[in-house]
Amino acid sequence: MQIRTCRTMRERFSNRILKPSSMGHAALLRKGPGSFILTLATGLILFLAPAANAQRRDAFHIDYTVSISSVEGHLFHVTADVKNIKEPHLELSLPTWTPGWYTVENYFKNVLRFKITDATGKWLQPEMIHKQTWRVETKGLDSIKLEFDYRANVLALNQAKISSDYAFFTGIELFVMAVGHRANPSSVRFQLPNGWKIISALTETRDPMVFTAADYDTLVDAPTEMGKFDVNQFQVEGKPHYLVTTPAAAFTKDNADKFTAMLARVAAAQSSIFGGLPYDKYVYFYFFSRPESNAGGALEHLNSHVAFAFSPNPDFMIGTASHEFFHTWNVKRIRPAEMWPYDYSRENETPLLWVSEGFTNYYGNVALYRAGLRNRQQFLQSVEGAIRGVESNEARSYISPANSSVSTWVGYDTPVAFGISYYTQGQNLGALLDLSILQDTGGASGLDDVMRALYMDFYKKDKGFTTENLLAIINRFSTA
Ligand SMILES: [Zn+2]
Repeated sequence: MQIRTCRTMRERFSNRILKPSSMGHAALLRKGPGSFILTLATGLILFLAPAANAQRRDAFHIDYTVSISSVEGHLFHVTADVKNIKEPHLELSLPTWTPGWYTVENYFKNVLRFKITDATGKWLQPEMIHKQTWRVETKGLDSIKLEFDYRANVLALNQAKISSDYAFFTGIELFVMAVGHRANPSSVRFQLPNGWKIISALTETRDPMVFTAADYDTLVDAPTEMGKFDVNQFQVEGKPHYLVTTPAAAFTKDNADKFTAMLARVAAAQSSIFGGLPYDKYVYFYFFSRPESNAGGALEHLNSHVAFAFSPNPDFMIGTASHEFFHTWNVKRIRPAEMWPYDYSRENETPLLWVSEGFTNYYGNVALYRAGLRNRQQFLQSVEGAIRGVESNEARSYISPANSSVSTWVGYDTPVAFGISYYTQGQNLGALLDLSILQDTGGASGLDDVMRALYMDFYKKDKGFTTENLLAIINRFSTA
């Protein structure tokens, strides 16, 4: 979604530049050969700027604000100013689940004092047409304002939390979507308690309290933390990476230096598979505390991940980090068609999580080996562990990797009777496919080529992939 927006902007501008009228305008300003390039550029800017501004002013968009109305009461106050409404009614929807954590949470259960008003402050009477979707009559209205308090009292990967010295949320819990407008950009203005700082996976602006997102899917896939925490910045391929550790002082400087060096090597090893890092910045959020629900472990996002670490030990933490970082491509960008785009209103079943999670398990270990952080023996132990995990499970005889993927919503973070996992099933299949393709092609191709083809042929073309698409690519690279 982000790529499509950027591409659209580029095309829009290049179309304008080629317009005869803009060239004519530039030519009129030409004063001499030496100043032609500068004058042409100035002319284009003069010509384009008012049009671009007018377009932004007129376009539908939502400006959100997030403040902490009560630290003791664990309450965020959230507003959404919906502007430039052109339709007679609008549907506003709050997500029910967090992508990557396949459990319906119904975030409306945490909402208090929900109201929608018009520009004069008059209450509107929205109709609730689904469990978390409101239909608002907007005939004759150019803008409306939605606001509510949100109880944030659970520190977990798919929940929001306000504690005495920090607050954490991912956009998915707080930001409503205007149905039909998910491609529109938005901004978020934050208001913090005195002495608190902020870091977000959202895009920074010149105002340190304002962040932006190119579209709704980017907006809700970005965690933000406020309060007291440590930040260590490092560069990979010229792009800023931030390691955020909470609580402050939980992770020593020596550990941070060691861990960031490891993270940089993992990022470089994985980037080389795909030909570069697909974001402008990356944020690693690490909590050295216990999660307050079953949603512990780690969770991937578009240009960040969040993890709980029980022990501040870089050698242990890097295994999780490598897995989560590979999700930057596999599932966040290379995504099963059933989740393209995500449907936030209900479960999104897909038979392909054995690829999204299993191949990520495999590549998490491959990347550690390629980065020089695990030796051959340690890599083989990870393979052996995955084989044993599936071989010793009798459910493998009647639950396929595809079926365990579809049924994940039955018990993603709660126990079920059949304990087969598409993580290990897919990890084994990834290893076997890699070996098979390498064997068939005399080492000329491998699973790297399959992953790169999925990235180029599907994500880069703004679509998800199906099982048939995957098989076709595997067959393409299996021919010597
Ligand atoms: Zn994963």
